[in-house]
Amino acid sequence: MTRLFRVAAVALLLSVSSLGVAADNFTLRLAQTWGPNSPILGETTENMAKMAEEMSGGRLKIRIDSSNKHKAPFGIFDLVRNGQYDMGHTASYYYKGTIPNAMYFTTVPFGMIAPEMYAWFYHDQGMELMQKVYEPFGLLSFPGGNTGNQMGGWFNKEINSVADLKGLKMRTPGFAGEVMAELGVAVTNLPPGELYTALERGTVDAVEWVGPALDFPMGFHQIAKYYYSGWQEPGAEVQFLINDKTWNKLPKDLQAILRIAMRTAAYDMYIQTTHESGVAWDRMKEDYPNVTHKTFPPEVIDAMRDATNKLLAQEAGKDDLAKDIINSQRDYLKQVRQWTNISDKAYLNSIATD
Ligand code: CA
Repeated sequence: MTRLFRVAAVALLLSVSSLGVAADNFTLRLAQTWGPNSPILGETTENMAKMAEEMSGGRLKIRIDSSNKHKAPFGIFDLVRNGQYDMGHTASYYYKGTIPNAMYFTTVPFGMIAPEMYAWFYHDQGMELMQKVYEPFGLLSFPGGNTGNQMGGWFNKEINSVADLKGLKMRTPGFAGEVMAELGVAVTNLPPGELYTALERGTVDAVEWVGPALDFPMGFHQIAKYYYSGWQEPGAEVQFLINDKTWNKLPKDLQAILRIAMRTAAYDMYIQTTHESGVAWDRMKEDYPNVTHKTFPPEVIDAMRDATNKLLAQEAGKDDLAKDIINSQRDYLKQVRQWTNISDKAYLNSIATD
C-alpha cells in the first residue's frame, strides 16, 4: 500500500465515523397486535415510524410487522420481552393473565376519560407507576394512542335488566370481561379478525370492540341492531412497548425523537378516532336506519359498578402495587372529575337541545 493510499483510506474512515454513518443508524422491528392495513391502530404505528425517521434524518427506522406476519396478535408482550422484536404496539389489558397490573394502564370501567387519563399519565403518577410494572420484565411502556370513550357493544337483543345478561355470549376483554362474567355473561376475547364471523354465525350474541370509527369497518352494524353506549372503557389507551436493551442502545437524541414520535402519534390517534367516529356514526345511521342507539338502564349500570368495585377491592387486597395503582387512579379521578363536571359535562348539559 502506498503512503498516499494509506492516508486517503484513513481520511475516508475518519470522515465516515465523524458523520456517524455506520455506527449511529438504527432499524428497530415492531410487532403489532393489529392486522395489515388496520385502520387507525395500524395508521398510528406507521405515523410514529414516519415521524421518527423524518425527525432523525433517516437515522432511526422502524419496520412494522402486523399479526399476519408474526402470528401472535396477543403475544406482543412476550415477543418484545424475549427480544424477538424491539418494540410492540398492543393493549396492555390483553396480558392480564401474565402481568395483571398492566391492565389498569389501558382503562378501568367507570374510570377516567381520555383527557383525564393523559393528565394522570403525564402530570401525575401514571408514567411512574407504569414503569414500576414493566421494569421487572425488561420493558418500557408508553401511551400509544387513545380510542376515546368506547361503546358498550353491539347486541342482538335489548338489555333491560341484569337478568337479560345471564348466559349471554359476549366478546369483551380486560377487566370489563371479568365484570361481565360476575353478572353471568359468558365472556370470550376473540382476536379482532374473528369478530364479524363470530357475531354473524351466532358464536357470540354480542360484541364489544371500540366505537364507530373502528366498528364501522368491521361491519357489525350489518348484523346487530342495538348499539349501546359504554361504561367499560371510558378512555382506552393502547401502548408502545420497548425492550430496554434496545432503548439503552439508542443515543439520547434518538431516545428523545422516539419519545416525541410516540407521544405525538398517540395524540393523533385520539383525534383521528374522534373525527372518524363522527363520520362513521353518521353513515351507519343513514345506511342502516334500523340501528338503534341505547344506553344501559340504571339497574344494569349499578350492578356493573358494584361488580367493578368488588373486583377492584379484591385486586387491591392481593398485591401492593395493584393497590397503589388503583388508589392513585381513584384519588386522581376524584380530583380531576370535579373539573370535568363543571366544564365539559356542564357545558354539554346546559346547551343540550334534546
Ligand atoms: Ca373495547
